[in-house]
Amino acid sequence: MDHRARQDNQDVYIAQQVRTDQLQQLFRQSVSAVLGSYLAAVMLSWLGWDHLDHTVVTWWVGLLSGATLLRISLFVRYFRSSEAERTPQRWEWQYWCTLALSAAIWGVGALAIMPPNDLLAQAVVMLFAVGMSVSAVSCYSAYRHMTVMSILLVLLPSTLWLLVQPTTLQLGMALAVLVFTSFVVRATHKLSEALEQAYRLTHEMERAHSISTYAAQTDELTGLKNRRAFFEHAQQLFTYCQHRHMPLCAVMLDMDHFKHINDTHGHQVGDEVLRQIGHVISRSFRAADIHGRLGGEEFAVLLPDTTLEQAQGIAKQLLDAIAALRPAPGLHITASLGVAEACEVGQDLHKLINNADKALYRAKDQGRNRVVVAEPA
Ligand code: GH3
Ligand code: MG
Ligand code: MG
Repeated sequence: MDHRARQDNQDVYIAQQVRTDQLQQLFRQSVSAVLGSYLAAVMLSWLGWDHLDHTVVTWWVGLLSGATLLRISLFVRYFRSSEAERTPQRWEWQYWCTLALSAAIWGVGALAIMPPNDLLAQAVVMLFAVGMSVSAVSCYSAYRHMTVMSILLVLLPSTLWLLVQPTTLQLGMALAVLVFTSFVVRATHKLSEALEQAYRLTHEMERAHSISTYAAQTDELTGLKNRRAFFEHAQQLFTYCQHRHMPLCAVMLDMDHFKHINDTHGHQVGDEVLRQIGHVISRSFRAADIHGRLGGEEFAVLLPDTTLEQAQGIAKQLLDAIAALRPAPGLHITASLGVAEACEVGQDLHKLINNADKALYRAKDQGRNRVVVAEPA
């Protein structure tokens, strides 16, 4: 995959994560809104009971009860679902539908209960509708279009009606609500943008952090751990094995006549040899084993819970796997390996590696392409 395609892929991945965060934020933020909007309607009905048409109010509260139950069941299903099931594709449209339904019932209901000849009651209804739209900002800010949609559905029916009423007071009320709404919609836009950016930055930083951590620990050519990462992990494993009196062996590997390979086949073939060795090493060992490229054409492996005989067998298999490689036509490569076992007491990691290294140099002395086991301490 080329760089551009990989970048696009990562952007798509981050965009998806940002949407998932927004969805989570939406559900968490708006739990109170579900009951709040219902209670506001009940309170308005109670306050204005003497001024309002009882049949209309009963219908309104009844329909709102249905919509509220629908929303509660959506919330229960969301919070009971597993992390993997909480995808924007699955929940956004359901949320949108139930929100639109309850906001529409609220807004149309507010207009329906509005007594035509009672200015005070009209003002109280508008007060509640405006209060509802302010709380929409705090509850749905993760999704701008949901905030705007719910505000418009709640406020517009009554406001448009007021706009065509005969008194100046009614016209003034309607205009004030419209001006107020335009401010709220603009604020919502800024708030949603800031939230989205915060989510995006968080994910981009997480990604940059994991990329740089990986790069700081990995040898670019072979994909194995670099020297620093190898010794860091090896030290932990060494301490772990010492505490549990678990046998631990080290294998050191150095390519034979590597300079000659570079000189006769070129540096690129030399690099290819190293890459293939890295591949052989990374697929030959267990997850608990630790391996890395210590530098140049030198590699090391630590084998926990492994006896010296087993380690020698494993090193021989590695030798055979390397001998079978053909990095370039007609090019046969070999390596020399040294194996050592950690003593029960009073040894440190560097001494163990040193012992394996000495065995490796004896393998070189004895003619290369072989495994030599360190002499017992
Ligand atoms: P011996 O059998 O005694 O180990 O001989 P050798 O030639 O393998 O050892 P020597 O230490 O003389 O040479 C190691 C060579 O490895 C020299 C260096 O240029 C080469 N080398 C080190 N790192 C790289 C690398 O990343 N890529 C390539 N192509 N060559 C490298
Ligand atoms: Mg060498
Ligand atoms: Mg070397």
